Amino acid sequence: MSSTHYRGRFAPSPTGPLHFGSLAAAVGSYLDAKHHNGTWLVRIEDLDVPRCVPGAADDILHTLEAFGLRWDEAVIYQSQRTAAYEEALQQLQALGMVYPCACTRKEIADSALHGIDGQIYPGTCRNGVPPGREGRAWRVRTGDHAVGFDDALQGHISQCLESEIGDFVVKRADGLFAYQLAVVVDDAFQGITDVVRGADLLCSTPRQIYLQHLLGFPTPAYLHLPIAVNAQGEKLSKQTLAQPVGTHHAAAALFDVLVFLHQQPPAELRSGNVEQILDWAIANWHPEALRNCRQLAV
Ligand code: GLU
Repeated sequence: MSSTHYRGRFAPSPTGPLHFGSLAAAVGSYLDAKHHNGTWLVRIEDLDVPRCVPGAADDILHTLEAFGLRWDEAVIYQSQRTAAYEEALQQLQALGMVYPCACTRKEIADSALHGIDGQIYPGTCRNGVPPGREGRAWRVRTGDHAVGFDDALQGHISQCLESEIGDFVVKRADGLFAYQLAVVVDDAFQGITDVVRGADLLCSTPRQIYLQHLLGFPTPAYLHLPIAVNAQGEKLSKQTLAQPVGTHHAAAALFDVLVFLHQQPPAELRSGNVEQILDWAIANWHPEALRNCRQLAV
């Protein structure tokens, strides 16, 4: 429990209520922050408006409160941060590191290789939009070198962005800024030192580190927790019909989250209240119990 400067965050997308897996990510980031006497923030990632569900952000915040997960500063909403993303895009434009892209989804699907995270953009518009076409999205130029980091649980992660991901979108054809850019701008804006989140985002981290370097932002420490999967090995999500976590039995659900996170809470804690369970969990937080674990069945 050394650093007093630790700043962590939980950054849910309000696409529906929290389920067991997203609650586990919230609890993990909260415990890591509080174990380090840190500040814990909540950021609502409501950037992808078509995917946001009205009322979901408030619902998530109420659920966090019911679980005793109190944020230390005002909640920020990505939907209100467009000017900051625009500024970052202008910075990338000034560096010559982004270019307009006219390709449609279908054109990319027809000509691209399938990579670790969708299609690898084949670079069609890299040296200019074809005559008669208009650039609508903005892509960042990736390089032919490894971008790596040491994850606190998952070890060394490295990607060659150019060959494994391809030049990726920072502003979409529909005018919305992409998650990869927004998360980097906001983590820097909020002074985040430690990112604790689900391992489904492990593969995005090299892209984020690459953007941090281009924009002159510091790179936080990363800890990617296992994601919760169902009996079929599918990530719990709205698509896999994961049940929302209720708030009526918050203490019992919190206990289950600690078991899921391999924290081995003592059996007598099962009858405790949310505050007692959190106090024990903060004092005894040991994420090393999850080393090399990328998914866990609930
Ligand atoms: N909003 C993202 C999600 O809900 C998480 C972003 C992050 O933690 O970096 O999947």
